[in-house]
Amino acid sequence: MIQTSISYQPFTQQRIADFQKRETPFYFYDMALLDNTLAALRRSSSKHDFTVHYALKANVNEELLRKIKAAGLGADCVSGNEIRQALACGFSGKDVVFAGVGKSDREIRFGLEHDIYCFNCESLQELTVLQELAAEMNKTARVALRVNPNIDAKTHRYITTGLRDNKFGINPRDFEKIASLLQDSPNLVLRGLHFHIGSQVTDIDVYAGLCERVNDLQQWFTDRGIDLPDLNLGGGLGINYKEPDRYPIADFESYFSTIAQHLKRLPGQHVHFELGRSIVGQCGSLISRALYIKEGVETTFAVLDAGMTELIRPALYQSHHYIENLSSDLPEQTYDIVGPICESSDCFGRDVQLAEIRRGDLIAIRSAGAYGQVMASRYNLRDLAESVYGKRENLVTNEK
Ligand SMILES: *Cc1c(COP(=O)(O)O)cnc(C)c1O
Repeated sequence: MIQTSISYQPFTQQRIADFQKRETPFYFYDMALLDNTLAALRRSSSKHDFTVHYALKANVNEELLRKIKAAGLGADCVSGNEIRQALACGFSGKDVVFAGVGKSDREIRFGLEHDIYCFNCESLQELTVLQELAAEMNKTARVALRVNPNIDAKTHRYITTGLRDNKFGINPRDFEKIASLLQDSPNLVLRGLHFHIGSQVTDIDVYAGLCERVNDLQQWFTDRGIDLPDLNLGGGLGINYKEPDRYPIADFESYFSTIAQHLKRLPGQHVHFELGRSIVGQCGSLISRALYIKEGVETTFAVLDAGMTELIRPALYQSHHYIENLSSDLPEQTYDIVGPICESSDCFGRDVQLAEIRRGDLIAIRSAGAYGQVMASRYNLRDLAESVYGKRENLVTNEK
């Protein structure tokens, strides 16, 4: 992936001095980087007149959501409570698209009540239920069909979603049935097709392949005179977990221009996206302290006061995060960086080279803004980590 490299140093001495005074672990959000990311996103997406919705499931913090709303993005929600949170943070119903394989009746009713922009539907039966509930409430529901394009996103198998065997989406085999179902559903209006093939996609060519497939699938509908005023290509654009300071902003430019180049956009069609990770991933870091340094037989363990309860990605998806010692400039040593939780998978990195760690050193786990704090749990009856929001000069804390 080609990325513009701008050197970035989020941890000034002043900021580290502030961290020293705080209880750890906590999440630190660099709001200046979020601003820069949103500006870059807008520059690249507006060239093609693309509409971007922020995928709330990556991070639902109010401070972030308000900034994202102010930047003009819509909201992509996967639960009724995410819709509620979007509304509470300034989004309106018409900003919201709602996806998910298992929307409950209650969640569907909530979406209908707020006249959300679109339900991204994932099965025949869901469409039937949506029609029934909309009729009961005397509402019209806009729908997009989430289609499973059978495309390999070339990412970790736990976060690929567009393959035939994944639970997501409607199989193109069922288009005939869906078309006649929609004809018999007076309370449903078809807006278009929806795709989301997976997350942390770093091979941009995957999106060129998706576009070719989308062009074919749309043809089926246009051949039958069925209108598709919207097309939603989902999200998934990856970030650089290895060098977050060298590549702090995702490659929106290549992503959108690749899609603009390969997509056969229907006349007047609006193209929508749902990006999560690429918007908030790099602005968040998990800040912890080293509790103990312990010599194993072959390895040295650094035991942190943060663990999988604060950031589960390494344990869940074997994901890599760049780890930094903010308190030391001693020569590097090799460590296994582990948390305090009673699970062997509670490990942030093995054989990590890091400036020598002493008890009490501040350790930053980078690129933790997406799928970090939202997945926190209270396993082992742990306290939930709080959030600290950094502007350029000052630091603001928000207790949870
Ligand atoms: C998770 C999700 C997204 C966002 O994915 P990112 O990889 O964070 O960009 C978009 N759309 C749907 C339907 C999702 O489930």
